[in-house]
Amino acid sequence: MRLDLGPLEALAPTRPFSLEGRFEPLEVGGETIEFLAPVVVRGRVERVRGGAMVRGEVVAPVGLRCGRCLDRYRSELRAPLDVVLRAPGLQAGRDDDADSVPYAPQVDLTPAVEEAIVLELPVRPLCRVDCQGLCPRCGTRREGGCECEPEPDERWRVLADRLMDQGGPEGDGRRG
Ligand SMILES: [Zn+2]
Ligand SMILES: [Zn+2]
Repeated sequence: MRLDLGPLEALAPTRPFSLEGRFEPLEVGGETIEFLAPVVVRGRVERVRGGAMVRGEVVAPVGLRCGRCLDRYRSELRAPLDVVLRAPGLQAGRDDDADSVPYAPQVDLTPAVEEAIVLELPVRPLCRVDCQGLCPRCGTRREGGCECEPEPDERWRVLADRLMDQGGPEGDGRRG
């Protein structure tokens, strides 16, 4: 994903840009992040002291794996992009972050865009906020409706036992 800027001397004070590109799958923490459509980056290039600044938004349609039901699902990630382009001959300062790259008439934004996407990946991906996950007994998706009985809630069982010990819910000794 290349951004054509031309020589720094001729760069306008501010200039909008829009890029689109296909990305190779990313390996992150043992998972493969697939790109289901081209990644789009829109933003502005601004001339600043010592170089230029790229600010924009990355929109990446990715395929993720749900942490509960393990199904693959499509998600549209939106990530902020901030890249400092250092003027030629200027060394990266001590306070500069990792997103500082040397200015060039044509800058490859691919590494910075990939980094922005990785930072925006959900820690625990979910296909739906209320995904029911897998049945702990038969291992199929709960949404599909397996035949298993729902797990009794341990807290209710303890409470029911206690009530029975006291002679039933009314406490007057009557039992079913
Ligand atoms: Zn799910
Ligand atoms: Zn089941």
